[in-house]
Amino acid sequence: MGFKKGIYMYEKLDKELVLSTYKRNYVEFMYGKNATLFSKESKEFIDFTSGVGVVSVGHGNEKVAQVIYNQAKKITHISNLFLNKSQVLLAQKINSLVGYNVGIFFANSGAEANEGAIKLARKYGNQTKNKRYKIITLENSFHGRTIATIKATGQTNFHKNDFAPYPKGFSFGKNIDEVMSLVDEKTVAVMIELVQGEGGVNPLERKKVQKLSKFLKQKDILLIVDEVQTGVFRSGEFLASKLYGIKPDITTLAKGLGGGVPIGAVLSRRKDIFSIGDHGSTFGGNFLVCSASLEVLKILNKYKKSGNLEKNIKYFNKKLDKLLEKYPNLFSKKQGLGLMQGLRCQDNVSASKLMQKAFKNGVLVLTAGQNTMRFLPPLTITKKEIDKGFKRLEKAFQ
Ligand SMILES: *Cc1c(COP(=O)(O)O)cnc(C)c1O
Repeated sequence: MGFKKGIYMYEKLDKELVLSTYKRNYVEFMYGKNATLFSKESKEFIDFTSGVGVVSVGHGNEKVAQVIYNQAKKITHISNLFLNKSQVLLAQKINSLVGYNVGIFFANSGAEANEGAIKLARKYGNQTKNKRYKIITLENSFHGRTIATIKATGQTNFHKNDFAPYPKGFSFGKNIDEVMSLVDEKTVAVMIELVQGEGGVNPLERKKVQKLSKFLKQKDILLIVDEVQTGVFRSGEFLASKLYGIKPDITTLAKGLGGGVPIGAVLSRRKDIFSIGDHGSTFGGNFLVCSASLEVLKILNKYKKSGNLEKNIKYFNKKLDKLLEKYPNLFSKKQGLGLMQGLRCQDNVSASKLMQKAFKNGVLVLTAGQNTMRFLPPLTITKKEIDKGFKRLEKAFQ
């Protein structure tokens, strides 16, 4: 009874004091270890969401915690007006993982990283003789919640009149061919996700993406790849664009980059566009987040090099294939890349109802557009945790 009352009180306060922009589940998690979470009632959950692709190295990661503690004792923040060694080291690490040369701007989130990319592209376009400013995106994309990134998001239900007017110069195409046909003399950039996350875990076709990349290069139009969800080893490679065989002009990162601390990044192959005063952020890339992120990248790079990431991807996908095979009445297909996977639900089945069933049985999963159950486990999830999670899912779906 005591527990119930406590939760009730905070639920009530939450509803009273925090603006209601989220449909919340009122479970109270107390702590976690890798892909396992414990609620206030000591109930154990297997986390196949990693906080929407954020906690890439698992909950309660000791190494990251130690780095955060050590850094916090020294300096957390001194503004971007002074040299920050952690930021330089992180930029160097990202460069070595990308494998080609990029200049980096550090932001605090995915939407902010995309805003930075949009500003960079717009400045580039304004320097060309046509004063180009138009940016084309794809249907079912998701690029963020700021006014510009809502408009960049290729889903009209996001473009609510409540927030109008929106900035001009954004349009979206149904598919890559339509995107190419929308290009005109005012187009400066095309922005895509290689696997659309929120839109339903839809991977783009490799050949089509390569065709687009070539087409844009010929026309001197920038290709921006939003890897906020697909990036930082989620696909099995540091960048999903490596799997697609492309080198975008601009790549954005966030979610998994900090393992839980808020950080975003704009990676630009064009280093000569932004000049002093063009962009900035108070918090962006401070000592705390950069030292944490550097540790996250060290852990994940080791994990990849040891072959463990590949093993995890194979094992998790084998389990998903089995689930799909066993429940054809629930799911029609599986799609995704690496540890970013979706099970498309049959028309008469609701992904959010399945998510609730999974939750009741001690597994956290996500949903995504087009009635899809979405899986984004920590990349460091153990075989034992995977087994436990799938056993519970089977129980939930019976
Ligand atoms: C989550 C996400 C964003 C927005 O990131 P925020 O950190 O919530 O601002 C942008 N693009 C993609 C592809 C995402 O998955």
